[in-house]
Amino acid sequence: MATTKDYYATLGVGMGASQDAIKRAYRQLAKKHHPDANQNDPKAAERFKEISEAYQVLGDAEKRKHYDEMRRLGAFDTAAEHAGARRRPPGGASAGGAGQPGPGQPGSFKFEDFDIGGLGGLGDLFGSIFNQQRGGATKTPQPGQSVETTLEVPFHVAATGGKVPVDLELTEECGTCSGSGNAPGTRPTLCRECGGLGTVNFGQGGFAVSRPCPACLGRGNVPSKPCGSCNGTGEVRAKKKILITVPPGADTGTKVRLKGQGGKGINGGPAGDVMITFQVREDPAWSREGLDLVRRVPINVAQATLGSKTTVQTIDGKTITLRIPPGTASGKRFRITKQGIHKGDKLGDLIAEIAIEVPSPVTAEQEKLMKQFAEAAGLSY
Ligand SMILES: [Zn+2]
Ligand SMILES: [Zn+2]
Repeated sequence: MATTKDYYATLGVGMGASQDAIKRAYRQLAKKHHPDANQNDPKAAERFKEISEAYQVLGDAEKRKHYDEMRRLGAFDTAAEHAGARRRPPGGASAGGAGQPGPGQPGSFKFEDFDIGGLGGLGDLFGSIFNQQRGGATKTPQPGQSVETTLEVPFHVAATGGKVPVDLELTEECGTCSGSGNAPGTRPTLCRECGGLGTVNFGQGGFAVSRPCPACLGRGNVPSKPCGSCNGTGEVRAKKKILITVPPGADTGTKVRLKGQGGKGINGGPAGDVMITFQVREDPAWSREGLDLVRRVPINVAQATLGSKTTVQTIDGKTITLRIPPGTASGKRFRITKQGIHKGDKLGDLIAEIAIEVPSPVTAEQEKLMKQFAEAAGLSY
């Protein structure tokens, strides 16, 4: 950014010009120097930037007052003005000609220091305007959209590992118009809402806040004929299905980052990433204790009393026979070694946890026998 700026010269107006005259001068120059109208001239963007920069300050009565004040306090090299350089053409301001003090010299004015309303340096403000001008002459590569999503994983997949498909919805640059929003073969026109700046000011009093222009979405221009694929927005919604590899022993909260699996890059930039956070689905038959798996094994009250043989399913579907001794209480655990979660070189166990179930409803025969049992045990019912 140049260290001295004469915005009046840039717009070719006198210091006493009315706001209306400044606006008229700006519109005329912006139209003439707009990068879209000068696509074979690489300097056009720079000239247009100078013009817009000048208007951003002089076009706003508050900022203009502040700027005039800075000039009066000697922040500018006004000698050049008096020497006849006043009507400097756009683009000349950054040439750094003789008579202009360099950075750090007395009387030099650092553009970045010119701070209005505590909103940060104007250098940043203008920088951001021109980065937003996606339809302009310069196209900077930008990374594609990165998305973050939570993926529900079935309990057994989280335990043993596996693949789970996930559907993503991404916002990507429109391939038809390369993000410009213009129908193929058509040129955009200068946005009337913001006069090509890409931002509009709002606020009153001492504050003027810039925000992206709603009419042109910060581009500074609008399609004369909108692109049919994206309706002129320059963006399309893309659906993408990817297969996520779930590592064995994945827990709720485990995150994986898939580099380059997000939205396509803009202007040749890299694709975005996909960040996945696992959420392990609960399963009524299973729970986990570290690398040990706990399997609920329902048995009948008679089996618990008399002892019996039952079967236990392992996480990968094998069937193991379990001998239950007489008088087994609910909650009693039996450890089956090396049938738990396999993570790295560690292997957990399978814990069979007994859950005694009461038969209901019972047949007349079962009821008769239960009554006999209760009487024999001296129980009232
Ligand atoms: Zn606009
Ligand atoms: Zn398009």
